[in-house]
Amino acid sequence: MAQIKRILVTGGAGFLGSHLCERFVEAGHDVICLDNFFTSQKSNVTHLLDYRNFELIRHDITMPIWLEVDEIYNLACPAAPGHYQYNPIKTVKTSVMGSINVLGMAKRCRAKVLQASTSEVYGDPEVHPQPESYKGSVNTLGPRACYDEGKRVAETLFMDYHRSNNVDIKIVRIFNTYGPRMHPYDGRVVSNFIRQAIAGDNITIYGDGSQTRSFCYRDDLIEAMIRMMQTEKGFTGPVNIGNPTEFTILELAKHVIEMTGSKSKLIEKPLPEDDPTQRQPDISLAKEKLGWEPTVELQEGLRRTIDWFNSIELSNYRAPTPNYD
Ligand code: NAD
Ligand code: UDP
Repeated sequence: MAQIKRILVTGGAGFLGSHLCERFVEAGHDVICLDNFFTSQKSNVTHLLDYRNFELIRHDITMPIWLEVDEIYNLACPAAPGHYQYNPIKTVKTSVMGSINVLGMAKRCRAKVLQASTSEVYGDPEVHPQPESYKGSVNTLGPRACYDEGKRVAETLFMDYHRSNNVDIKIVRIFNTYGPRMHPYDGRVVSNFIRQAIAGDNITIYGDGSQTRSFCYRDDLIEAMIRMMQTEKGFTGPVNIGNPTEFTILELAKHVIEMTGSKSKLIEKPLPEDDPTQRQPDISLAKEKLGWEPTVELQEGLRRTIDWFNSIELSNYRAPTPNYD
């Protein structure tokens, strides 16, 4: 086995973080999962608690914490619009103060640190598909700004710690990712549609459903994040990671209805303010620098996700905020 590393995953009990923790525990690393459980719950990682190389810390990343580690994956931040808008000031604090805290730790420990940034840094993009060189079109005053601008400042902090203090940083810009262990009440489109379809509830289409997203399956995404951390020192990114196959929201709804055999009806709800009209990653850089591209197509990823939703008991999940439908 390669050398054992001490790896911290902030937001480690969340949808993506829990899978990263799993991968590192299986690989024999010394894993610290840090989370305040705002948009997740302990059950995402209880299966790891019996492993001697896994440690769970309930902590809010806006507060400093002293840990000795070799690598940090910084994922702590609510990711679904309804939940990050619930307490927007806390969302900004999580990205900004959270980044300062992990970057300070990385500087002190000489650890590598990876930031889970987002396609939201491009806002409602006027360039399509979006390459990393596109500087974005974000409304600084809108309801999504707490997340978008928080993540943009986080990128700035990462670059400044790199330039000023030579911290070994990596930035990935994640595009819409889905899969098993998404919170059933996170309010994101894939989890909402599957939960609604299975229950026979109305499927909530915001606007006319002509807006597009490009959906990446969880395992593909996790692989890209791990490869990014292994790139040579000095390569900071940002690197887009996502699946470039683009769908309208209406097409997604039809796939979910067909694959669940649901009798649910489609209903229109108002399009949220500043909802991006289109989104598709240009992944040329990820292909070149990480030797990576997605392997799981939407139909297959949806099948695995639907199977998981069919296997869970909804009463075991608490809605993080009331904003999920
Ligand atoms: P998630 O909500 O499941 O995970 C986020 C985790 O961070 C949760 O466990 C939550 O409890 C925790 N958290 C939130 N605030 C915290 C705080 N102040 N202190 C400690 N923990 C805190 O969402 P996810 O989809 O797993 O997203 C993980 C990361 O990836 C986020 O930073 C998100 O912005 C980024 N991202 C995800 C996507 C996606 O499509 N899944 C897209 C772009 C970016
Ligand atoms: N959406 C929808 N119905 C839902 C949830 C979301 O039509 O029940 C739409 C939403 O307006 C957006 C797209 O699906 O256009 C993706 O939304 P999500 O919250 O998953 O992610 P984001 O907007 O951050 O890409």
